[in-house]
Parts: sequence; C-alpha cells; structure tokens
Amino acid sequence: MTEHFDFLVIGGGSGGMAGARRAAEYGARTAIVEGDRLGGTCVNVGCVPKKMMWNAAHFADTLAIADDYGFALPDTTFDWASFKDARDAYILRLNGIYQRNLESSKVSLYTGWAQFDSTSTVRVGDQHLSADHILIATGGRPMVPKVPGADLAITSNGFFDLGSQPRRPLIIGAGYIATELAGTLNALGSDVTMALRKDILLRGFDITLRESVMDEMISAGINILTGVQMAAIVREENGLLAVQRQDGEQISGFDCIIYAIGRDPATDTLGLASTGIKPDNGGYLRTDEWQNTTVSGIYAVGDVTGRQALTPVAIAAARRLSDRLFGGQDEARLDYFNIPSVVFSHPPIGTVGLTEDEARQTYGHDNVKIYQNRFTDLFYSVAHRRVPTVVKLVVTGAQETVVGCHVVGRAADEMIQGFAVAIKMGATKADLDNTVAIHPTAAEELVTLR
Ligand SMILES: Cc1cc2nc3c(=O)[nH]c(=O)nc-3n(C[C@H](O)[C@H](O)[C@H](O)COP(=O)(O)OP(=O)(O)OC[C@H]3O[C@@H](n4cnc5c(N)ncnc54)[C@H](O)[C@@H]3O)c2cc1C
Repeated sequence: MTEHFDFLVIGGGSGGMAGARRAAEYGARTAIVEGDRLGGTCVNVGCVPKKMMWNAAHFADTLAIADDYGFALPDTTFDWASFKDARDAYILRLNGIYQRNLESSKVSLYTGWAQFDSTSTVRVGDQHLSADHILIATGGRPMVPKVPGADLAITSNGFFDLGSQPRRPLIIGAGYIATELAGTLNALGSDVTMALRKDILLRGFDITLRESVMDEMISAGINILTGVQMAAIVREENGLLAVQRQDGEQISGFDCIIYAIGRDPATDTLGLASTGIKPDNGGYLRTDEWQNTTVSGIYAVGDVTGRQALTPVAIAAARRLSDRLFGGQDEARLDYFNIPSVVFSHPPIGTVGLTEDEARQTYGHDNVKIYQNRFTDLFYSVAHRRVPTVVKLVVTGAQETVVGCHVVGRAADEMIQGFAVAIKMGATKADLDNTVAIHPTAAEELVTLR
C-alpha cells in the first residue's frame, strides 16, 4: 500500500528538518525520510562537533598565554578521548531532540534510503510513499580522491571518529574545512602539515583574509606545502603514512592523513532517472530562485543545489519554500545575496558581501574604495605571541555603499552578524561612521576607519 502525503522530504538534515516542520506547522500532512542520523551533516559530522573542537582549541590558545596574564598554571594536557565522549554524548542528545521535534510537529519519520519510482512516488525499503510535493534535501558527502592507497586516509567524517589525537597529521586541501581542522589540531598540540594543490588557502574569500590567515597559520607553526599534486598514499615500513607526489617526491611520517578536498552532492543513489531530473556535471540539482527543479512538484534545497553550502542557508531556503507552498506566502523565497559566513580558522574570519576582486569586477576597478586597518587586539597586549586583526570595508559609489565587510582576528566570528544586518539594509560608510564606537573592542575599528 502506498501512503500519501501533502509534503514528502528526503533527507533529515538542516534543510529537510526545517522545511518539514514548517510545512507541518501549516497543517500539511508531512513525512521525512532519513537513512542515517537525524540532524544530517551539521549536527553529526559538521558545524556542531567542529565548533566544539574549535572551542577546545580556543581554550588551549588561551591557556598558552595564561602565564602572560599572571596565572601560574600547572602543566595542562588535553584528553582527546574524554572530550570526544562528551562531544558524542551531546550530539546524541541533539539527535534525540530532533526526533522529539518531529514527533511534536506531527511529521512522520521513515528510516531508510529513499529512491524515486516516479515524479510523485518514492520507495524506502519495502515502503511506498507518494506526495503532492517532494523536497530533495539530501546534502553531500566528503570527496575521496581517486588515487592508489586512498583508503589509508580519512575524511572530515573520519576525523570526528578519531579516538585519539593524531600527533603528526597531514591535511590535504585548501578550503575552509581543511583550514579549520589544521588550525584546531595545531592549537591542540599536533604537529600539523597541510598540502595545497595551489599556492594559497581559502579560494573565493577576500585576498586580505586569505593572506592573513595563511601567514598566521604559518607563524603558529603549521607546515604549509604548496603545489602538491598527489599520486598515491602509501604506508611506510615504520607504519606511518606518506604521500607520493606526481613529481616523484615523497612527503613522509604522518600518523593520519585527512582529505578535505571538497564535497559531492548526494544525488547519485536517488533514482532520479525515474523523474526526468538531470543533475549537472558536478551532480548538483540546479533550481530556480523558488527552489523548483525542472520537474513540477519536486524541489531541492541545501548543499545538493550547489549554492552556498551553509546550514542557515539550507534552513532558510527550506522554510521559505514551505511558507510558499503551504503558508500562503506566494512571494516567499530566499535572497542568496549578502549571506554572511564565518571560518573557524586560527584566527577566525567573519565575512559578508563582495570580496575586493568581485567588487572591482562588478562596479569597475576605479569605482571601488577600500578602507582597511590592521592592529593587535588589546587581548594580546601582554601576550608573548601577538595575533593580528584585520578589518576591511569594500565600498562603492558616491554614497560609499558598503558592499563587503571582512574581518580576520579574535572574535571576528561573533562580530560579523550585526554588520551583516547593516550591509543587507544598504548601509553606507557614513552610516558606520555615524555609529558611536564601543570601546575598547576590536569591532569599533569598523566604525572608525579612515
Ligand atoms: C566539517 C564540516 C563543517 C561545517 N561547518 C559549518 C559551519 O560552521 N557552519 C555552517 O553553516 N555550515 C557548516 N558546514 C556545512 C553544513 O553542514 C551544510 O551546509 C548543511 O548540513 C547542509 O544541510 P542539508 O540539509 O543540505 O544537508 P545535510 O545536513 O547533509 O543533510 C542531508 C541528509 O540527507 C540524508 N540523505 C541523503 N540521501 C538520502 C536518501 N536517499 N534517503 C534518505 N536520506 C538521505 C543524509 O543522511 C543527511 O542526513 C560544515 C560541513 C562540514 C562537512
């Protein structure tokens, strides 16, 4: 027998959970299908455990200068295994909360992997479901390179499974996940090497952020190798791992190799051929601005669409879709412009709007002005190691409209959200200047730039 719903959501991650619950709030008969743990990437192997590790690293960074602040501390050590237990227990609690949220929202949960049978029917094991509207929110999974010995290394998923701290890890990749894992492991005391295919981290971010983070990671002791083209991964006689490069060189002596080279969308096992939807060359499901796929009644949100792969983006797109389909809000859709984001690097990045390069391309080279300052946060005034902060505004036009705001340094992660509101509202440089500074903070530098 086929069970029929108004709304069927495939994937119980950030986007799927949010869209399903919002639809059920409007009274839509809703079901969600999840093959793994509720909460998806963010809760289980993404934002949440990553930020908890970053918090632990932040603790280590602070302890490292406690002496400078007059604290005579005994030697401290980080117990990876016990912290992992605490982290896992918290995530298990979140999984339970997600399950209860579905129950209280009266969303039916089907556990298993969904496959389309037609444009309106889906199979989960031996259960058959049909719906008027179907949302694909299946996210992605970490990419694994196709080289010999690839299975000797782990991905970010495996990182969260590690029962003990890798002492000499190699991280392959240059994106934000690679950057975050490298900084965290280094702060916790591992001897970290990064291997980049090109010559600089964090493609797509403003050049000032990219250079500042890379310089700071190097001065914090991370060994960053550039121009590494990997040929194979091998286990050496001493049991440690090595990367053979295409140029014949070998990088050796690692107890753990982590790939963070990107993510693939989870569309290959959905049976999309039964629907007529064709993923693009990267496997992504391209949608219009209303999250419609090319087939009427089938929608997609989140990482699977190839847009900004961030939890709040997936959530916002899914909620607006449900508002439109079931809440009578015909115009509801997510505006993908000026989405702020943070990289939990060492030091962290907060960024919103256009990079300097993007702004010059959009408005013309000479129609863009940069306001920038580099300084040492008061926090490091007495510290033996000083981590710089850089704030940067990208403005354009006679009104000096702020089209980009970029911060790297202590507390940038907490600073950027408020500035993102101002920029989304069209703030000008004069608006920032007219805002009285809060002293002494690092954020005040953004309203006192000259
Ligand atoms: C290490 C890491 C750190 C990150 N840090 C951040 C961060 O700090 N901030 C941030 O905003 N974002 C972060 N992200 C990105 C964020 O996790 C994703 O953007 C977000 O989870 C996307 O949500 P989604 O709903 O599209 O997919 P997901 O959360 O991935 O959920 C998809 C779900 O669908 C399920 N599924 C897949 N196929 C099927 C099927 N056929 N049938 C049933 N179920 C299926 C999967 O099991 C999964 O649970 C991070 C990601 C990683 C990997």
